[in-house]
Amino acid sequence: MTHDEGVAAARAAVARVDPAAVGAAFVVSLATRRLDLRSALGSYAVGRHLPEHPFRQGMAGCRVCGLYERDTPISVTELDHERRTWGGVRHEDPRYVAFDLTEFLSTPQPVPGERDVALCRSVLAALRALPPATTAAKAGPALRMVPGNKHERDVLLEILGYCGILQTDAHRGFADGFVEHDDRAQRNTDLAYPIRWWKAGDGVNDTNVARFLAVA
Ligand SMILES: [Zn+2]
Repeated sequence: MTHDEGVAAARAAVARVDPAAVGAAFVVSLATRRLDLRSALGSYAVGRHLPEHPFRQGMAGCRVCGLYERDTPISVTELDHERRTWGGVRHEDPRYVAFDLTEFLSTPQPVPGERDVALCRSVLAALRALPPATTAAKAGPALRMVPGNKHERDVLLEILGYCGILQTDAHRGFADGFVEHDDRAQRNTDLAYPIRWWKAGDGVNDTNVARFLAVA
């Protein structure tokens, strides 16, 4: 897949997705541990403002989206495994966005029940209640009410970061606009942009909770 094909595939998949459906699937994923359903919100958040653009050489790959002009083929089996096992690990890759959302569109899209909404609210409440200096890397244990392991909870936090539900003033998620690959800079922890910069004192962004999860 070329750069332009990857960008076009991601944009086309995003355009077909109902924003309310990805939010609902995320909420349902918490209690059910349906990581495939959880992943779609991250892909949608990253992809929704991905601009059509030509390849522009950056620090590594395209400075806008990170793709190479002509990349080595990506294994669909691997992407599928990542999606089902962790809820996705490369939401920032337009090829994953395209794959994930295309799969999502072919899956029955669930409606959250009261229990699902309550669990989502308790996750947000737990994040709000953390001591202000708590980093995202240390926030996972507070989310033990969500069935799953540490890696799954880290991805959950990353997805909330992409949505701008967890963001900082200086390092914002993708809710209001696309953040270019080079502006996300190098990883300095195991966590993705922008969650690696977030501390509990930065708070939970209610505007983006309402925008993406509809459980405010
Ligand atoms: Zn690009």
